[in-house]
Amino acid sequence: MSSQRRGIIRVVPPRSRFKAGLLAVVLLILAIVAPISYLGWRQTVPDVRASLAAPRFLGHTPAFTVTLHASRGSVARAEVRVVQSGRPLTVAKSDTPRGSRVELPVTFQTAALGLREGPATLEVWARDDFWRPFRRGERPIVSAPVTIDLTPPKLDILAATRYVSPGGVQLVAFRASDAQRTDVTVGPRAFPSFAYGPPDKGARVALVALPYDYAAGTPIAITARDEAGNVATRGVAGELKPRAFPRDTIKLSEAFLQMKVPELLPQRPPSQSLLDGFLVINREQRKQAEATKREIGARTAETPLWQGAFTQPRNTKVFSNFAETRTYVYDGRAVDTQVHYGYDLASTKQSPVPAANAGVVAFAGPLTIYGNAVILDHGLGLQTLYAHLSSIEVKVGDRVTKGQEMGRTGATGLAIGDHLHFEVLVSGVSVTPLEWWDAKWIRDRVNRPLKEAGLPEIGGVGAVADDEPARPVRAARRRAR
Ligand SMILES: [Zn+2]
Repeated sequence: MSSQRRGIIRVVPPRSRFKAGLLAVVLLILAIVAPISYLGWRQTVPDVRASLAAPRFLGHTPAFTVTLHASRGSVARAEVRVVQSGRPLTVAKSDTPRGSRVELPVTFQTAALGLREGPATLEVWARDDFWRPFRRGERPIVSAPVTIDLTPPKLDILAATRYVSPGGVQLVAFRASDAQRTDVTVGPRAFPSFAYGPPDKGARVALVALPYDYAAGTPIAITARDEAGNVATRGVAGELKPRAFPRDTIKLSEAFLQMKVPELLPQRPPSQSLLDGFLVINREQRKQAEATKREIGARTAETPLWQGAFTQPRNTKVFSNFAETRTYVYDGRAVDTQVHYGYDLASTKQSPVPAANAGVVAFAGPLTIYGNAVILDHGLGLQTLYAHLSSIEVKVGDRVTKGQEMGRTGATGLAIGDHLHFEVLVSGVSVTPLEWWDAKWIRDRVNRPLKEAGLPEIGGVGAVADDEPARPVRAARRRAR
């Protein structure tokens, strides 16, 4: 035991010396390596990064934002330059540290800086205030090729409907070269345009609706914009023919309110009177229907699906007109005023509802005050609406032919008695059906400007000789006056 113990005692000191030595070496290595690796870490901390939706084109007044991120420290300096023919121009600069994330707005006058049309380079330079053992050489953190373009798109109006009226439609044919987007506007409202005719002609057409309350002098214009933000605008000429719209008074009976208000407003609070319920329906639900019409109007075929004149259902009489201003009277007192956006067509109860022209079903179902309704898309933003139906036999996406039965008339929605409420819409804006029931109007106001523009007529030349029964159109026109 003792010899073993002694033996152990003999052995211990060298081991202990060895351990001490090892510790010293480790400490020495740590003393050298730790600062080196710490410095190394500082050196490898990434530079400032930039994120920007780099414009590919710069126009007269470019405006964009460069966002800079420092992974450590703050963004200390940032600069945006445009380099053309080896000459750098500073277009935005920030010199004071402003945190780890900096948004640098860039806006400048291209021509005022002496930049010319043609290729250039957009550079972003930035530094953080984070200390690193070796300072890196100055170089841009972003370098992107750009094209300076100061020439607006070339915009030519090829033809347009000459005579226009409030509540009517104007066809505009035009060509916009080098345009990223074009807008055809009537006052504040924009209408889409569609590539039309032979592709090498590069023509576009738009159907624009003049609202029923269109005020003389409200500009109708085409605006073309290129990717650099250059804009060309042309006013569309037309001779405005005034059109007067009728007025009518609708007496609200207690029986009508008792029947319609619970149907259209099932969640009505018990404290709300029938009249107040009616006013919610007549105002809010009407507005909702208008919004839906605009939404559906935006989903349209890019080519015309219609052929020739639109048809009024056989044996129907117009008993209420387009853009009729209606005063609602309850208990001898005017309680509301609204505009009626379609034609009411009376026939026998549950009459067939034929498609006024060829198209694709864009909507089929309940539509607030319109009750069960069908909206048929005829392309280029042109649509027809059929309301108050008792039954619907088509579904969204169905292709229908002119005259095809889509359902039966009824009195659903805010209807007094069985009838068909019929509307023609252009991008969701109601226009008078009168024009579209009239083969001569389509020939003169739609196909003539297309022909003048050297573009194919819609429905071919045969559209003019459509086998349209003329009588209902004449009857309707008499009433519209
Ligand atoms: Zn109606």
